[in-house]
Amino acid sequence: METGAYGVVSNLSASSRLLVATGNPGKVASLRRFLQNLPYDLVGLDAVPGCEPVAESGTTFEENAQLKACGYARQSGWLTLADDSGLEVRALEGAPGVYSARYGGPGLDDRQRCELLLRNLQDIPASGRQARFVCVVAIAEPNGNCHMFRGERTGHIASALRGHHGFGYDPVFIPEGHAHTYAEYTPARKDETSHRAMAMQAARQYLLQRAEVAA
Ligand code: IMP
Repeated sequence: METGAYGVVSNLSASSRLLVATGNPGKVASLRRFLQNLPYDLVGLDAVPGCEPVAESGTTFEENAQLKACGYARQSGWLTLADDSGLEVRALEGAPGVYSARYGGPGLDDRQRCELLLRNLQDIPASGRQARFVCVVAIAEPNGNCHMFRGERTGHIASALRGHHGFGYDPVFIPEGHAHTYAEYTPARKDETSHRAMAMQAARQYLLQRAEVAA
């Protein structure tokens, strides 16, 4: 009987282990919520000693998610789930996109990246501030077989930072049909309809079917 890094207790064999390959603390908590009660023994990257970070050198969310899932599956020998996500702003021609975590260069924190985004949109009226969050989840076998699942959430960029929950661009993103930013919702409420929820619900179905076939 083992306890995985994500608190799931199981007596499954190593072939049912699922490596959740993200080092982003904001995403770990969210991914963990979606993977509850699955017949897999969840482990984090800390379970892979000497693991080399996989560079996010792709130009699309799909490329980066696949690079990460396949790279960590190869190194660990385990089924691996990785995601790539970001914010696309129409008035900035899709920026920051796959560079969301690195927007403005190294040394900025989440708050400073939100402030930079607002400065870059300061001349854009509310009617032109459409944006969307994208999340692509990749699940890779050690042999390189990979399945991908995409979720998107449309909305617009607020005129100022609002709210204290969440991470990343949550304080400036207002989902379509709502009046509040993601950071004004609790993480659980955000997860009901987020881009990550959409991708992870599809990934969860795939993992369940895969486990049934293997049983
Ligand atoms: P990744 O770890 O390369 O996927 O980087 C994703 C980056 O996109 C994060 O560091 C955030 O800046 C941003 N991002 C992705 N999803 C969210 C979200 O749900 N809320 C806020 N920011 C997000």
